[in-house]
Amino acid sequence: MTLEQLKQDVRNVPDFPKPGIQFKDITTIISNADELRYMRDCLSDMYRDKGITKVVGIESRGFILASAIAVELGAGFVPIRKHNKLPAETIEVSYQKEYGTDTIQIHKDALTPDDVVLIHDDILATGGSMLAAVELVKKLGVKNIYVNCLIELEGLNGKRFLAEHGVDCDCLIGIEVDE
Ligand code: AMP
Repeated sequence: MTLEQLKQDVRNVPDFPKPGIQFKDITTIISNADELRYMRDCLSDMYRDKGITKVVGIESRGFILASAIAVELGAGFVPIRKHNKLPAETIEVSYQKEYGTDTIQIHKDALTPDDVVLIHDDILATGGSMLAAVELVKKLGVKNIYVNCLIELEGLNGKRFLAEHGVDCDCLIGIEVDE
């Protein structure tokens, strides 16, 4: 298995969910047992010596690999969800999207300041959702935060946007946004 193979197997769906969007569909690679294991191993290998105690996944496609990485690293899994989906007491962050704002939440008791956290999402586009997720985790007092995504959509400058806010994001593969 190679990263190039993985990249080839991500399905591009034009005009989903609306005209002009090139949707990167990861269902084609998570349904392949070898590719699923390979992604879990590559994404975990970057953090084996970091003492990660919790892997935080961003709803909803971020949940898939975040939980696999958590098991691999011997860490727990914590979800960040959209507004009003989590049942217990939450804290939240709102952020600007292309159209309107979005609010994400995390359970107030999900993390403690001494946790070492890895935040994972499937795709880094503009970086807005990842920055909001970092802010949310910081609100719980966590100081040690690592960030990764499976795919960086190149050409949208998400990594640069995050870097400008002091966030270093590791991505396993890069795909041109219009590819
Ligand atoms: P952003 O906040 O712009 O970085 O957007 C990242 C979020 O939107 C991730 O949760 C992605 O799953 C989703 N996303 C953005 N663009 C795409 C795309 N072209 N294909 C699939 N998912 C996308």
